[in-house]
Amino acid sequence: MPVSSSGAYACEYCGRHERRSFLGFRRPLLRMTTSQFGAVICVECLDRAGDLLNRSYRH
Ligand SMILES: [Zn+2]
Repeated sequence: MPVSSSGAYACEYCGRHERRSFLGFRRPLLRMTTSQFGAVICVECLDRAGDLLNRSYRH
């Protein structure tokens, strides 16, 4: 299994580098690094955070 090395920071919140589809394919998980804080977050965690925010605003 090849391991991608360059810039392979795992998401700080779920610890993943990649997402696995329901068929078992591995896809690169888009991650975003904030240069200010040096935090790494992936799109899935961002989505989840957005959902949480939306829900908390509604209630
Ligand atoms: Zn994540």
